[in-house]
Amino acid sequence: MRFCNLTRGSEIGANSYFLEHGKDRVMLDAGMHPKQVGLAATPDFGQMPHGKLDAIIVSHAHHDHIGALPVAQSRHENTPVLMTEPTGEVGSAMLHNSVNVMTRQREEKNILEYPLFTHGELDEIRAQWLYRDVGRSVEIPGTNLQAEFYDAGHIIGSAGVMIRQNGNSLFYTGDVNFDAQTLEREANFPKEGVDVMLVETTRGTYERPADYSRKSEKERLAAVITDTHEAMGSVLIPVFALGKTQELLLMMHELRQEGLIPNMPVFIGGLGTKITVLYDHYSARTRRSYSGFRLLSDIDILVAPRKRRTELVYQQRAIYLLSSGMMTENTTSNQFAWKFIDNPRNTVAFVGYTDPDSPGFALRNAKKGQAIKLAADRPPVELHSRVESFDFSAHSSRESIADYVELVKPKKVLLVHGEEPSQEWFRARFNERIPATEVIRPMPGQPVDLW
Ligand SMILES: [Zn+2]
Ligand SMILES: [Zn+2]
Repeated sequence: MRFCNLTRGSEIGANSYFLEHGKDRVMLDAGMHPKQVGLAATPDFGQMPHGKLDAIIVSHAHHDHIGALPVAQSRHENTPVLMTEPTGEVGSAMLHNSVNVMTRQREEKNILEYPLFTHGELDEIRAQWLYRDVGRSVEIPGTNLQAEFYDAGHIIGSAGVMIRQNGNSLFYTGDVNFDAQTLEREANFPKEGVDVMLVETTRGTYERPADYSRKSEKERLAAVITDTHEAMGSVLIPVFALGKTQELLLMMHELRQEGLIPNMPVFIGGLGTKITVLYDHYSARTRRSYSGFRLLSDIDILVAPRKRRTELVYQQRAIYLLSSGMMTENTTSNQFAWKFIDNPRNTVAFVGYTDPDSPGFALRNAKKGQAIKLAADRPPVELHSRVESFDFSAHSSRESIADYVELVKPKKVLLVHGEEPSQEWFRARFNERIPATEVIRPMPGQPVDLW
């Protein structure tokens, strides 16, 4: 079995991997780079040998894993795509949104190759999508390989992928969380029988404080919300549309039920609303806490958006859960911030990752009174609001991932989905604790023989 990393750089970006055994060829994930534009944002599919591709397997519906799926499918028209049903349905909503974003960028930034695909093409390629349940080993059509999904605990539908070939096995973690979130339960991964592990290394440079607990972090957020309410202000929480919106919405519900925050309305908006509808659709059919609980109808403090495109109006003593999480230009959280962050009564609470080039990062690291450039075509806004950061990552801590790999003791570990310093942390730890395991950083375009 031969492995090839199809990403263009070694950092987190257009995640995609290629497996070849004899005549059998499989692609794992087909992501789009969040920072690059045009074809440079897609994986380097040109590294694959010409000819047939038997299957594409998608781990979950985040953009950096599914964003270039239509491009991969257009190169391999009749290739089946295997994924869980929620990944396909949520992925479809994400990809349609991506068409809109690319169409706008074509005009604004003059990127002539955009959109890389159209709404119509998205409807057509669905004919090749095959939904497979977690926990059932299935034949990859036309090959001597089997695939099996394991719950990854990251977002709705997220899965680790096992590939088996005649007694050999490779397990791809995808993005994983070994700790329960508010909605997602912890990952349920195989504890043995893995020869080669393809491991995400997102948080390898992040050392969690020894006294960290999700519960105390939640209580700290509750205290900030309560303070802001007392000061007659509101709280803006920029969130990723997929995953973080739903987790935080449910967390607000819990905090209210526990009496830890006052009674105040919660607003959601942007793409997050659309994705929440799908979370509710699968509320009883996916493994999660609060099975059957519907976020949009069962949370009484939620003010469901009446009409799409109605502009959100600021009011005092409210919570705004708005996408995107990094406050990228042209998103709801960015636009809402224009009239929000100059008010000293208000608070902006960050709950996830912000890229160093994003407006969210600039705001998060700014001092009071500093002028923040939120959008290219807008004058800067002076920051007078309180800014706080919380750790509610949908990714496992590096220690949890390392503990898992050390429990399974694969013969080979391939480090992916992380920056070099992150991967070096994992390498050092595995060299010390499981010295018999070969640790590999698969460089783009350099094939690795697995067995
Ligand atoms: Zn992800
Ligand atoms: Zn990812």
